[in-house]
Amino acid sequence: MKAFECKGCSTIIFIKRNVKEPLWCPVCRTSMAEIKSKSKDRSKRKLKKYRCPECEYEFLIDKNSIPYKCANCNYTFTTTFGKLQEERL
Ligand SMILES: [Zn+2]
Ligand SMILES: [Zn+2]
Repeated sequence: MKAFECKGCSTIIFIKRNVKEPLWCPVCRTSMAEIKSKSKDRSKRKLKKYRCPECEYEFLIDKNSIPYKCANCNYTFTTTFGKLQEERL
């Protein structure tokens, strides 16, 4: 896993190593910088996984953060995205 921190709102997202770097912060669309994170830090966080239905980009974000846009394309998540998806299944 690789960690990226937003230069604007300090949101941290995690992506798999084989996934390309995020274009921008999914919350505020500021550019992101890769940060070094220890696996210990990650296990303390409660993360939620999101998958963009448009480009299939996957990332993990703090449970309390709600992504607005996909970190890789122009797709807009609705605020109830996770819940709606569960209900449909
Ligand atoms: Zn941000
Ligand atoms: Zn996308």
